[in-house]
Amino acid sequence: MNNIDNTFPQPPKERFFYLETYGCQMNVADSELIIGLLSQSGYRKTDDIDQADVIIFNTCSVRKHAEDRVLGRISNEKQRKLNKPDLKIGIVGCMAQRIGKRLIEDNSGIDFALGVDNYSQLPSFLAALDEPASFTDMNESEIYENIEPEHQGSTCGFVTIMRGCDNFCSYCIVPHVRGRERSRPFEHISHDVESAGNRGLKDITLLGQNVNSYHFQEIDFPILIERLAKINSIERLRFITSHPKDLSDELIRVMADSPKICKHIHLPLQSGSTAILRKMNRKYDIDHYLTLIHKLKAAMPEIAVTTDLIAGFPSETEADFEETLSVMRDVQFDYAFCFKYSERESTAAAEYTLQVPQAERLSRLQRMIDLQREITLKKFQAQIGKEVVVYIENLSRKSSQQVSGKTDDFKIAVLDGSEKDFGKLVKARVISATSGTLICQRQA
Ligand code: SF4
Repeated sequence: MNNIDNTFPQPPKERFFYLETYGCQMNVADSELIIGLLSQSGYRKTDDIDQADVIIFNTCSVRKHAEDRVLGRISNEKQRKLNKPDLKIGIVGCMAQRIGKRLIEDNSGIDFALGVDNYSQLPSFLAALDEPASFTDMNESEIYENIEPEHQGSTCGFVTIMRGCDNFCSYCIVPHVRGRERSRPFEHISHDVESAGNRGLKDITLLGQNVNSYHFQEIDFPILIERLAKINSIERLRFITSHPKDLSDELIRVMADSPKICKHIHLPLQSGSTAILRKMNRKYDIDHYLTLIHKLKAAMPEIAVTTDLIAGFPSETEADFEETLSVMRDVQFDYAFCFKYSERESTAAAEYTLQVPQAERLSRLQRMIDLQREITLKKFQAQIGKEVVVYIENLSRKSSQQVSGKTDDFKIAVLDGSEKDFGKLVKARVISATSGTLICQRQA
């Protein structure tokens, strides 16, 4: 299992790579895979861009803004080639898949673009650095079973359980750039979780575009997490992202029954209007979503629910938008990631007529954010006086005498402490709260 393939081409002399990651947690995990792969191939990672022989951007295409940022970065960094002609710049990930070929043809400053899930070819690309710029398409069957990721965090680990997506939500570029859904074998996932725990990463997040549809042989997602939660080397198990159409009663039972599975679920709602959900091709309606929330809270009264919301989807009326605000008030999400709709070329929704004007999208987004801020503050303040268990991850940004970490239900907490606490579960009482942080006092 996870036997390392050492046959990757090695560089002729010591070469440094600098890697910059954009987008979701899946991209962060993919970057750990790339770092593992290049390290096994004789390259050295550097955090000093001046030292780099190769600059790699691991990119995101979910919103136009994410692509524009990378284009800006390429445009800045290509100036370095004036003083360092051998420097190579490349992109990998969703944007490389979507427009990598075009960027090479337009002479935009990149030397290579590697489509999604073709990272195994990176060493060959880098070994042929003097050849003309090149593009390689996606590898739709890749699940990287011969590469050990190099986890960058010292306390929390991310383990990818599946790749790709079959859902084709009408606004989403992911199935177009990441290919069809495929699940990794149970034994490989179990190995990765156990070995991450043995290396001190006690808080593990399982990753997939739609983890609820994980399936490998007779093992579905509830069976997978029930078995993983029995691994002794870890303390906490989380997962993202769940799709409401696939969240089963059995999963709720397993979550409620296992103390190691965190009492938090990220359940993207996207819109509170059933008419808009239909146009988004989400395959559930509001009644189904609210029934799930009811079941989750009945089984785990303390569960935190977070979500994703889109403002200004094509044809969204003021009444549709009000329905979203109304569901937000009903559910009382602990946190919501709010976005304005962003057209993505080649998705169905980009072709819809009745696009909502940008100004209206922005104003609805602001109303959504304002409402969520109020709700989050209320939810955090409701924690005051409660005892929580915090998994300590970092020094607090405000004081070197304080540490920060996450509660079981995914809230950031700050308390007195030092680096010696990293990777420990610490009991604390909440003494005050902002809309993003619980301020806590350590308990004996
Ligand atoms: S489930 Fe929908 S939103 Fe999520 S990645 Fe797949 S297509 Fe995109």
